Amino acid sequence: MSPLNEPHADAPTQVVAIDGPSGAGKSTIARQLAEQLGYRFLDTGAMYRAITWLFLERGVLSAEAADGAPAREALAEASLRLQGGRVLLNGEDVTQRLRTREVEAQVSAVAAMPSVRARMGELQRVVAQQGPVVAEGRDMCTVVFPRARWKVYLDAAPAERARRRCDEFQQRGRAVVEAQVLAEILERDRRDSTRADAPLRRAEDALYVDTTGLAADAVLDRAGALPRTRAAFDALKADVGANAAQLSTQADAMALIAKTSDEVKNALNALQGDVSVGFADRDARIGGVETQLSQLGT
Ligand code: C5P
Repeated sequence: MSPLNEPHADAPTQVVAIDGPSGAGKSTIARQLAEQLGYRFLDTGAMYRAITWLFLERGVLSAEAADGAPAREALAEASLRLQGGRVLLNGEDVTQRLRTREVEAQVSAVAAMPSVRARMGELQRVVAQQGPVVAEGRDMCTVVFPRARWKVYLDAAPAERARRRCDEFQQRGRAVVEAQVLAEILERDRRDSTRADAPLRRAEDALYVDTTGLAADAVLDRAGALPRTRAAFDALKADVGANAAQLSTQADAMALIAKTSDEVKNALNALQGDVSVGFADRDARIGGVETQLSQLGT
C-alpha cells in the first residue's frame, strides 16, 4: 500500500458539526452543505422536538413526572428515525407537529434532561457511524462530535434571528408578533446556554460565522469553504496515490510533488484569505503531503 493510501489511525470523524442559537440559519446551511458534499443531513433539533411531542402526548411533562419513570419509559420505548427531511416517531410521521407552539415552549426543558440528552447523543453517533454527516444543533462541536473534522458556530443578532423565525412562521401560515418571537427566542437561548448538561456554547476550535446581514449563499460559501477544500484536497491526494505506480523515475515524482504542492498551497492560501479562520495545522498538512509525495518513486 502506498503511504498516501494508508488510513490515518486517528482520523477525525467524517462530520461537519454546526452549532448556534435559534434562528442563526443552521438548518438551511446544514441542509445545503450536506447536499453539496453528498453527506447526510442530521437535524438534531428535530430529534429533541420529536421527544418533546411524545412527552406532551403521553402527559409525562408535569413537574412531578418530568424525568421520572413515565418519561424514562416513553424515552426507552421511543423509536426515532429521520428519513429525507421527515421525522418518524414509533413509526408515525410527526414532522408537522414539531413546530407547534406547545412543542416550542417545552423543548428546552425536555432537552435539559440528562436522560434525554444521553439517548439523543447515542442515536446521533450511530447515524454518524453509518456515513459522513452534516450535523446541526447546540452541542455537536462540544459534546456529541468533539472530534468532528470541521466545526462551525453560526450566530446572528437577536433581532435578525427573530425576523427569520417570523418569516418561517408566516410561510407556514402562522400569524406571529415579532416582539413575542424575539422574547421566546431569547428565553430559549437562555435556557439552552445555562443548562447543566451540554449547554450551548461556541467550541474554541469552531469557525465563527456571524450571519447577520448575510444571504444564505454567502454563509454557505464561508461555512463550506473548509470541507469543500478538504474534499478537493483528498481527491487530489487520491489522484496522486493512484498515479504512484506509474511514476518510474525520481524526476517524475519530483515534478508531481512540485505541481501538487503548489496546488495545495494555493488552495489553502486562497481559503485562508477567504475566511477568517485559524487553520492551525495548515502547514503541518502541507508538510505531511510533501513528505508522502517525496516517498513516491523512491
Ligand atoms: O434547532 P431547533 O430550534 O429545532 O432546536 C430545538 C431545541 O432543541 C433547542 O432550543 C434546544 O433546546 C434543543 N436542542 C438541543 N441540542 C441540540 C439540538 C437542539 O438541546 N443538539
